[in-house]
Amino acid sequence: MENLQAFDPENFRKQAYAVIDQLTEYLKLVQDPKSSGPVLPWIPPNQLLQKWSAEFETIRDPQRLIQDVIAGSNHLHHPHYVGHQVTAPLPLGALFSMVSSFLNNGSAVYEMGMISSVMERRVLQWMAQRLGWSEAADGVLTSGGSAGNLTALLAARQAKAGFDVWNNGQDAGPPLALLVSDQAHYCIKRAAQVMGWGEGGVVLIPTDEHYRMDTSQLERKLKETEAEGRRVIAVVGSACSTATGSIDPLHEIADFAERHQLWFHVDGAHGASFVLDPTLRKTMQGIERADSVVWDAHKMLLTPALITAVIFRNGRHSYESFAQKASYLFGEGNTEVDTWYDLGKRTLECTKNMMGFVLYASLATYGETFFSRYVAGRVALAQSFAGLIREADDFELAVTPEANIVCFRYVVPGMTGEDMDILQERIRSQLIASGRYYLVQTRLRGKLFLRTTLINPATEFEQLKALLADIRGVVSNLGDSSLIV
Ligand SMILES: *Cc1c(COP(=O)(O)O)cnc(C)c1O
Repeated sequence: MENLQAFDPENFRKQAYAVIDQLTEYLKLVQDPKSSGPVLPWIPPNQLLQKWSAEFETIRDPQRLIQDVIAGSNHLHHPHYVGHQVTAPLPLGALFSMVSSFLNNGSAVYEMGMISSVMERRVLQWMAQRLGWSEAADGVLTSGGSAGNLTALLAARQAKAGFDVWNNGQDAGPPLALLVSDQAHYCIKRAAQVMGWGEGGVVLIPTDEHYRMDTSQLERKLKETEAEGRRVIAVVGSACSTATGSIDPLHEIADFAERHQLWFHVDGAHGASFVLDPTLRKTMQGIERADSVVWDAHKMLLTPALITAVIFRNGRHSYESFAQKASYLFGEGNTEVDTWYDLGKRTLECTKNMMGFVLYASLATYGETFFSRYVAGRVALAQSFAGLIREADDFELAVTPEANIVCFRYVVPGMTGEDMDILQERIRSQLIASGRYYLVQTRLRGKLFLRTTLINPATEFEQLKALLADIRGVVSNLGDSSLIV
């Protein structure tokens, strides 16, 4: 059979060594800012589509294809990558992912992924323990924080709605709602709308000057929402929030949730890893009182995307997110508890990657201290960077960072309002076009800020100092612009 050629072992060996060589050379170059090219080799979408549309018909050489993909990608391992919250994955983690792809054993039922399923249980036990939970805790791994938050909130709905929405539909009871800060990740709103709660299903709680939930508003917002005829069933804390990395006062939210018997969910997609460091753990106090926590490994645990844990303090709730029966898969008459190993029962996915294996293998290889040091080191770097910005007359810090996210802007005396926003936009687009740095921007209380996430372990303080110098250079080159007085 001709197409078995594609499965020939010796062919594979040759191709695999070639790919590993390509990635090794790439890693060498990209980690050295002196010898590497742009962080993001920006090409407008339509132009790039043209190139790859043409190549689709002609390219038959995997090495060249991979080389082009490597060269044209956003370089997360570059020390000047300080953009979105996706980590430069451990190179060995990427190899684990390749093994996962090769074996393709990460499935809905135990028989289709035995090892990954038990590894998943083991790492979830470890994560639950680090959150401060007992053996009653349980959960699943799923594809990303967005899917994870939806999974947790589905369980919250089943537990707290007061009627069986899953089987009888939303019309069988009053409209539902949850409370969350105005700094929460958009996927919380998306989850509520996926669940059919409409726009009014998410009630935004204002934040204080640190961009943390202002918990003094909770009682009033709850009463207002109930007066409108909605049943509030959950309150969501962000730990940390996406834009500024602020950590909501989790104890206060937990008190409120307890008082009103609401579900308390913590979106720790980015920040849950902070519990690994004894000092940072203090900033997360109260997380142990949550009913459910979402924790991304592809952010602060250095794994390739996507691996997200959804963990329930009372593990039985993890069986309620998708409280349906698929008897052809899971067999009749099994009680929930003795089928913990048929993971597809409790996830949005049926088939999924061997994420249990990838996370277990990464943690087991490097050990917990490696990760706690990494987490603490990145937050410390953010604090040093913030100090530098605070001392500079020509920069403004948005807020003292609690996490490894720093928002700031360049200031020109006398310049205000929209002009200031346009200036930040120009700075960012010039920096990205130059390829020297990749950073993002965010709007806070109407003002535009430059935003950096210090997530790459290779990024050093000196390089952040150079970033500020670089921004000053960009601004002086804008000299002829009417924006600069
Ligand atoms: C990143 C993030 C998400 C989304 O997670 P994905 O894994 O990108 O889907 C959700 N919430 C918070 C707080 C985040 O930081």
